Amino acid sequence: MTKPVGRAMASDAPLRFDFLVVGGGSGGLAGARRAAELGASAAVVESHRLGGTCVNVGCVPKKVMWNAAVHAEYLHDHSDYGFEGASGQFSWQLLKRKRDAYVSRLNQTYQNNLDKAKIQTIRGHATFVAGPEPTVEVGGKKYTAPHILVATGGQFPVFNPTHAEIPMFFLSLCWLFFLFVSFRRSVIVGAGYIAVEMAGILSTLGSRTSIILRQGVVLRNFDSYISNNCTKELLNAGVDLWKHTQVKSVRQQRGGLEVTLVTKDPDTREEERTSVVQDVDCLLWAIGREPNTSGLNIREMGVELDEKGHIVVDEFQNTTRKGIYAVGDVCGKALLTPVAIAAGRKLAHRLFEGKPDSRLDYSCIPTVVFSHPPIGTVGYTEEEATKKWGKDNLKIYKTSFSPMYHALTTRKTQCIMKLVCAGAEEKVVGLHMQGVGCDEMLQGFAVAIKMGATKADFDRTVAIHPTSSEELVTLR
Ligand SMILES: Cc1cc2nc3c(=O)[nH]c(=O)nc-3n(C[C@H](O)[C@H](O)[C@H](O)COP(=O)(O)OP(=O)(O)OC[C@H]3O[C@@H](n4cnc5c(N)ncnc54)[C@H](O)[C@@H]3O)c2cc1C
Repeated sequence: MTKPVGRAMASDAPLRFDFLVVGGGSGGLAGARRAAELGASAAVVESHRLGGTCVNVGCVPKKVMWNAAVHAEYLHDHSDYGFEGASGQFSWQLLKRKRDAYVSRLNQTYQNNLDKAKIQTIRGHATFVAGPEPTVEVGGKKYTAPHILVATGGQFPVFNPTHAEIPMFFLSLCWLFFLFVSFRRSVIVGAGYIAVEMAGILSTLGSRTSIILRQGVVLRNFDSYISNNCTKELLNAGVDLWKHTQVKSVRQQRGGLEVTLVTKDPDTREEERTSVVQDVDCLLWAIGREPNTSGLNIREMGVELDEKGHIVVDEFQNTTRKGIYAVGDVCGKALLTPVAIAAGRKLAHRLFEGKPDSRLDYSCIPTVVFSHPPIGTVGYTEEEATKKWGKDNLKIYKTSFSPMYHALTTRKTQCIMKLVCAGAEEKVVGLHMQGVGCDEMLQGFAVAIKMGATKADFDRTVAIHPTSSEELVTLR
């Protein structure tokens, strides 16, 4: 296979590559770079900034903000550890400047990496156009390849028709979270991990914060031990939770937004009361993202989409149209950066290294929620395991304790841990924890669980003392 540059046969013929990637985010960049390493001529089409959601408005800026929030928590504890009078003046502006500079450096690094790998960057919005073979048009120019990867990710919904009384202007505020500074009063709509993370960050950094949730707990897809504990920790950290509540309307007032809420009786679903939150300067809509497939013209190419607009793929990331593949958030499964990256790389090995079985195994994907304290989880929840193995074939090990770090502090958080073990051999099929340090604790345990570790393997491992993680190998 010859390497660089696309080839055009006639002046109006599409420029040809071996591998054409639509979307320069986590999955697209990883797939293109691995394909180029394997000798393919590759191009990436990107309509915005390189790096996609993760680098520009997701994992990276979020983690910087979370790190800042953790500093704020430690400041509370300084006097308990003998640092009298240590306070620290917080400048949101300075943090924002440094965070944005870091993101810009990453954008440039991604560009350099593409250039070094001789991958052509095509700037603009790609749309599929009809032709004898799948072809993409960007800014009036056409590009084609025998293998086209769609990695267009997801986007925040701009307007949700179920909230018809809310003007679009207010909904668009959720996009501006990463642009504006220092909020006094924040209202976050949603109960998923992004809502939880944003609430923790905003509240810890000094914004009075409320979460509006339709049900009684946050993180309802997580193990109930985690969702209940996380709900408690949010309250413990001073976040208001408006349970069984929805936004009815939003109005612009002089002091900020006026958000009217409706709370329903959880049993009867009858309206119980309406309440008004005044002077809101950050209304963040965190109710999930939609796949970036509208405007791609992809259905017209014979690519099947599900009812939510996600691209339907098989286990090898093939769509229903030969030569078109999809990875990452646009497929709607395990919406995480490392998943998109791994799927993109596996696909490149299949297409350009002649490895027909190369595909991502989507089981046992570890996940961290950067809540306060953080959550780490991998494998089956107890609820899922009960359905799969039956209650009688499961053994659950749990613990809840105050980490040694808090022995000296007036501010307290709990650490909770649960192992879900299946069968007579007690294979560990799920691990769920929330507590200081659980974010960094998870990866190693995830390796053991992926390898099929049993409870006896955990027990055989000598503990590291004094840590919170030692509890996981001493559970009884
Ligand atoms: C607030 C937030 C926090 C998150 N935190 C984490 C975290 O801590 N850990 C984690 O693992 N994941 C996290 N995620 C999820 C993670 O960001 C995504 O799973 C990941 O970015 C998906 O990668 P992707 O390649 O599928 O899509 P994206 O990274 O979204 O990339 C898609 C790219 O395609 C481009 N594009 C779209 N349509 C077109 C078109 N027609 N033509 C040209 N270009 C196009 C877009 O501009 C974008 O750059 C977070 C997400 C959010 C929103």
